[in-house]
Amino acid sequence: MALRSIVNIDETLCNGCGLCVTPCAEGAIEIVDGKAKVMTEELCDGAGFCLAVCPEGALTVEKREAPDFDEQLAAKKMTEKLAAVVTIKQTCFNCGRSEMDGVLFPCRLKGESLWACARCLPQLIHG
Ligand code: SF4
Repeated sequence: MALRSIVNIDETLCNGCGLCVTPCAEGAIEIVDGKAKVMTEELCDGAGFCLAVCPEGALTVEKREAPDFDEQLAAKKMTEKLAAVVTIKQTCFNCGRSEMDGVLFPCRLKGESLWACARCLPQLIHG
C-alpha cells in the first residue's frame, strides 16, 4: 500500500454507459450491475484517460492509500481482453460464416458489437 493517484467512481452519478471502459489501457474498469467499477486497484495506474469521456462527471482521480500499480497484471488483463475479442467475435452473427470463408464487417445491433459477412450485409441493410 502506498499513497498514490487512483481513479474514483461516484456510483450515484454513473449511468453505466460504459464509455470509460475502452480508454482504460490497463483494463481496470468494467461495468457491473449497470455501474462502472475499478475491478482491481492494482490495475489502475491513476493516469485518468477515462475521465474525459464520462458524460456524467462520475470519474475523478484522487490521492489515497492503495495497492501499488501492477504493470504485469495489467498487461495480462489486456492480453486476455484482446484475445476474447479476437477469438470469440470472428463469425457472422447472421449466418455463422467465419473470416476464413469471406470478408467480415463490424456492426452494432441492440447494444452489441458484432460481425456481419459480405453475403448477409446487403440483406441486413435493405431488409
Ligand atoms: S463513462 Fe461515466 S457514466 Fe459512463 S460508465 Fe463510465 S463512469 Fe459511468
